[in-house]
Amino acid sequence: MIERQQTGARVAVWRDGAARTVGWDEPVVGAFDLGLGRGDGAFESVLVAGGTTPHLPAHLARLGRSARLMDLAHPGDDAVRAVVAAVVEDWPADVDGACRVLLTRGLGDGTPPTLVALLAPVPAETIRQRDEGIAVVSLSLGVPADLRARAPWLLGGAKTLSYAVNMAALRHARTAAADDVVFTSLDGQLLEGPTSTVVWSAGGRLHTPPVETGILAGTTQARLFAAAEADGWPTAVTPGTVEDLHAADAVWLLSGIRGAAPVTRLDGVDRGDAGLTRRARELLAR
Ligand code: PLP
Repeated sequence: MIERQQTGARVAVWRDGAARTVGWDEPVVGAFDLGLGRGDGAFESVLVAGGTTPHLPAHLARLGRSARLMDLAHPGDDAVRAVVAAVVEDWPADVDGACRVLLTRGLGDGTPPTLVALLAPVPAETIRQRDEGIAVVSLSLGVPADLRARAPWLLGGAKTLSYAVNMAALRHARTAAADDVVFTSLDGQLLEGPTSTVVWSAGGRLHTPPVETGILAGTTQARLFAAAEADGWPTAVTPGTVEDLHAADAVWLLSGIRGAAPVTRLDGVDRGDAGLTRRARELLAR
């Protein structure tokens, strides 16, 4: 918090059809907000780089998709753009920021949704992980890989505010001297990280698990795959296992804020990246 105060974290809220900035420590939701009490809402984490949000359109699309999957009222892309613009205005170009957009069901019963944008510098630890790589443990999420595609109440593919399990998995990883997690299904298929998409390189091809498993469609993975294809690096959607990751030339956890974090240890086994991280990063920078 002290770091945030010093560097000026920002908050904007959508109220009465307009974006208003408020102090970073001011209250912005009521105690009865269903986002607070039930985690009943959706969110996006948007990178602010060079004082702008170059990837905002993909996040707007995914927030809209999450809202539809959750039957959540959405005040419209222009409202989201307005709260984001309000916090990003005059943000220093040399400080990478993490802008979180929160959309909740508000007080429910047809009342307006709550829409808030928060902006703070990307934490130093996130930058360290991006630069130095991450130790990862695989943990079961306890669902069969094909369940969420036929169980819409489980909200597969929606980026909901209910991240308590994801955060608990990260804390569990730390007790195992790891930085991050790869979730697997009950039947041993690769899913995703608690805040990232799994990508691996094998046989000269980039691979990522199918979204039909209920994982989130990663905006960073989509950008990497589009740039890789254009650069002659073939890509594939592949149901994989932890064994496939051990056998891969390189494994990354991808996310908008941290970028491509190379996995340097998996379930206690050190691993390399065959020099491919540089190429992946160059492609993501395009
Ligand atoms: N999967 C989950 C569960 C996430 O929380 C995230 C991060 O937002 C991702 C994947 C990666 O998505 P993106 O690349 O759009 O940040």
